[in-house]
Amino acid sequence: VFRSKLTFFAAAKVSSSFPPPEVSEIAFAGRSNVGKSSLMNALTRQWGVVRTSDKPGLTQTINFFQLGPKPCLVDLPGYGFAYAKEEVKDAWEELVKEYVTTRINLKRVCLLIDTKWGMKPRDQELINLMEKSQTQYQIVLTKTDTVFPVDVARRAMQVREALKKNKSIVQPVMMVSSKTGAGIRSLRSVLAKVPRF
Ligand code: GDP
Repeated sequence: VFRSKLTFFAAAKVSSSFPPPEVSEIAFAGRSNVGKSSLMNALTRQWGVVRTSDKPGLTQTINFFQLGPKPCLVDLPGYGFAYAKEEVKDAWEELVKEYVTTRINLKRVCLLIDTKWGMKPRDQELINLMEKSQTQYQIVLTKTDTVFPVDVARRAMQVREALKKNKSIVQPVMMVSSKTGAGIRSLRSVLAKVPRF
């Protein structure tokens, strides 16, 4: 399925403009600059469809991308962007929360965590929400090339340990680098097994 053509499908600033929930969705969430667009590009091998940028917090909408005839990849706006105005920040976060807790065709959220920095309160907040709404999610450690392999393993263990009592988490913790391509194939095959309509 990740060989299919990726096309931009819709952008939503408010939940009323979400596309009809006809196909299953896999969403990508995380703090701004976590490497989300790079990962979506690497997974689909279609560089440039999902825009990467060095300006954190640029994506203010939820973006829906169709992958081939069916599944949708969904790019959630990055949170924790230090320089955004409070009211703007609140609006994005509300939108993300609403999406992950109410979207009926959402089959999986990939929550991206920077391997170097680990989980932050905002990540935990989102995890708590997904636990409450029983939204299936998995943790993806990004930018593994920026630390020593031993630190990647340590971080994965720490995350697993912190979330071991959680119920909606899908194990294992995945580790990727969009820069070197490490872990991309494994993540692709895990996501290819996400149930579809
Ligand atoms: P987003 O804001 O979460 O969409 O993050 P981007 O994909 O735009 O990446 C943010 C920054 O991190 C950019 O400067 C990327 O070049 C860099 N980056 C993304 N993935 C990796 C990675 O796997 N390794 C390294 N070293 N840098 C990365």
